[in-house]
Amino acid sequence: MDSSTQEDCHEDHIMNSTDPNAEAYMTFMKKHCCYDAIPTSCKLVIFDTSLQVKKAFFALVANGLRAAPLWDNKQQKFVGMLTITDFINILHRYYKSPLVQIYELEEHKIETWRGDSFQNVYLQYHKQNLISISPNASLFDAVYSLLKHKIHRLPVIDPESGNVLHILTHKRILKFLYLFGPTIPKPYFLQKKIKDAGIGTFRDIATVQQTATVYDALSVFVDRRVSALPVVDENGRVVALYSRFDVINLAAQKTYNNLSMSMQEALRRRRCYVEGVIKCYPDETLETVIDRIVKAEVHRLVLVDRNDVVRGIISLSDLLQAIVLSPAGFESG
Ligand code: ADP
Ligand code: ADP
Ligand code: AMP
Repeated sequence: MDSSTQEDCHEDHIMNSTDPNAEAYMTFMKKHCCYDAIPTSCKLVIFDTSLQVKKAFFALVANGLRAAPLWDNKQQKFVGMLTITDFINILHRYYKSPLVQIYELEEHKIETWRGDSFQNVYLQYHKQNLISISPNASLFDAVYSLLKHKIHRLPVIDPESGNVLHILTHKRILKFLYLFGPTIPKPYFLQKKIKDAGIGTFRDIATVQQTATVYDALSVFVDRRVSALPVVDENGRVVALYSRFDVINLAAQKTYNNLSMSMQEALRRRRCYVEGVIKCYPDETLETVIDRIVKAEVHRLVLVDRNDVVRGIISLSDLLQAIVLSPAGFESG
């Protein structure tokens, strides 16, 4: 981003004494509980930790899911989550070449992989214990937990039965807030332009060249711990978006043994994806951004200038921090 725009996008905290509705979303989230945001029906799959790692990722694909809670039969409790990030970490750590099978993926059980010998890899990301929430806890607490622990999946567990009722995500929570939008007094700060609100990341954006390999993209996911990469051409113009979710296509198509495939090829082979890149511009308002991100059902927008050069990322984490946690004086770290 050029220096003038960087300065324009300065952090300008939305807590503002002249905005009587500044706390409206925060108050709404404190008044509603997780149970309120759970759909009446949804698919939930649980993996026993004795399941083979490879089968677990295939099962995610077969069920069209992004994550599953892990059940340890010996301990008779949930011990963690299996997410696409875990798939990425295994591929990145153990991939050698298209000619060599990834033994750790083919042979190991989830419990072996989570065990001592693999902790170096697993613990890079893994939160030691399952992070969960009660259905009676507030949605404010759910947002706080997702952001504080930097996770994208928060199982809602009934304290009486011990059953997982749902897996809450940023998307679900913002959608819930959005559906109630008309009944909540609208904070004035929603009219602020992105460049003035300072909500999002505007420096050091992790991107991947369209000519890079899938392995390169996985390396960026692992090193930078970001949830998606704008795919750019040689001029820094965004041509596509590759998110962690898209990596599951490697399992769906059993192409995880060929990570030297180019990004162009990987993007072309995607089956379930969003057409084009969902973007926003520095002079658009926060309200427009929220409207667009909820309607497109994506986790982030790519901030671009008029030449489509990447200038930033505005993710659901940034938005929930700004409209729910910051008005309560909470920073998630
Ligand atoms: P993704 O974006 O791929 O769905 P996450 O960002 O949620 O993945 O997960 C990051 C890491 O944290 C993964 O190793 C995952 O297993 C772990 N993790 C995710 N959710 C939880 C949770 N609720 N409790 C404990 N660990 C979790
Ligand atoms: P999740 O539901 O796991 O958070 P994402 O929203 O990251 O998943 O990704 C779901 C799909 O939407 C992926 O195919 C991804 O490439 C696509 N996608 C996400 N954000 C954008 C965007 N800003 N522009 C275009 N496609 C996107
Ligand atoms: P997320 O993991 O998308 O929920 O976002 C967590 C934080 O990382 C947010 O502040 C995002 O703005 C930021 N972020 C997400 N993707 C990128 C990226 N590709 N480059 C830099 N920052 C990012």
